[in-house]
Amino acid sequence: MRDKSWTAVSRRAGYMEIYRPEGGPDLRATLLPVLRGLEEGLPARLPVRLVVRRLRDCWGFCDLRRTRRDGPHFLVCIDDRSCEAMGRHTLAHEYAHALAWDEPGGTHSDAWGRAYAAVYRALEGEE
Ligand SMILES: [Zn+2]
Repeated sequence: MRDKSWTAVSRRAGYMEIYRPEGGPDLRATLLPVLRGLEEGLPARLPVRLVVRRLRDCWGFCDLRRTRRDGPHFLVCIDDRSCEAMGRHTLAHEYAHALAWDEPGGTHSDAWGRAYAAVYRALEGEE
């Protein structure tokens, strides 16, 4: 699912300054250890691939994919103009989608919210 509503909320909240249109350090290299830590502590039912690239209409998305190379997996994609903090924020949001993928209730369901809470606690080092 593409998080257009999330983009709208972010823009309304004035977060556009965290955009980094000039580019910067390799965001994927920064986020990959974060993702691996999440996969270790809160494994999704499939491997999660991380792609950082230019997105036109959202900060990020999570989708269920199947490729010849990787087999079935979750693809988490994050806009390459995100600063590190926003990248972590979006990764947490999208990883929660992977965790709650099979739960009923729609995109940002209560199940997604519980998954997001667990991801948040994991990233913040809370029990
Ligand atoms: Zn979402």
